[in-house]
Amino acid sequence: MMEYARKTITALMAIFALAACEQPGETPTPMDPGPDNPADPDPTDPEPIDPGPTEPDPIPEEEFLDDEEGRVFSYVPAGDLLPNSEPGHQDTTIYRPDMLFPLEDAAFLNSQVYRHGGYQGSLNGMNGGQCETSNYDYPWQDTFCESRSRSQIMCPTGGHEGVDIRPATCIPESGSQHWAVAVEDGRIVAPASSKYTVRLQTDDGTLYRYLHLKMDALSVSDGEFVTKGQRIGRVSNDFFNSSGERVPTTYHLHFEMYQNYAPDAETDPIFDQVNPYMTLVSAYERKLRTP
Ligand SMILES: [Zn+2]
Repeated sequence: MMEYARKTITALMAIFALAACEQPGETPTPMDPGPDNPADPDPTDPEPIDPGPTEPDPIPEEEFLDDEEGRVFSYVPAGDLLPNSEPGHQDTTIYRPDMLFPLEDAAFLNSQVYRHGGYQGSLNGMNGGQCETSNYDYPWQDTFCESRSRSQIMCPTGGHEGVDIRPATCIPESGSQHWAVAVEDGRIVAPASSKYTVRLQTDDGTLYRYLHLKMDALSVSDGEFVTKGQRIGRVSNDFFNSSGERVPTTYHLHFEMYQNYAPDAETDPIFDQVNPYMTLVSAYERKLRTP
């Protein structure tokens, strides 16, 4: 009997010891997840902002200007000439910010010599005729100080003193008539002796020269005062060699601008031909914005 009682007490003590190991107060209850549980937000936190539908990052606005045929205008930087036609003359100055573009219709600035139809076109693998489609398309390309045998102040190693502008369509194919207009108010200087050149001089002395217009059908006369936008003549191919013989060039307007120019602050300005390329780009962009 004593033995039975001792075993029973031992067994009871073991049960009490097990029970002592399960202190419910020391075990976190599942109902009390603690402050980090997202299901139990701190009421002092601000309400999360609903970002709504995802918006794409704004794309920087680029201006695309197209001409009457829907072609998007573009141009190669000033001074960046075709291969084999350098040196060129990098000048990004817009000399006359209000100048009107000298042709009424779309136009294409590019080389008459080093592209299709030019006598040096083969240097660049361009062996087509002047009416080749790519001659009548963008981008524009600068031709100021394009390589020539003659030198001048701005192109001392020999170069072309203006920029060349093809009309909207190739004249031999289309028979179109493309008008050149006065880029500013001014006076026309076109004596018969000038043969293939019409000059336009403004009150402040700026001088423009239009070459290769159809000289026997000008719509202005020597000494006439014209207003900006007034028709001067049609783009043609009139040209004469030094012997006075008529030798047709490609159908284009050769355009020149004379301004006071100083290459740097220390040098006195000279009145000479300047690169009108960026002035023409600026004028053309304004033209395309206001058809
Ligand atoms: Zn030219």
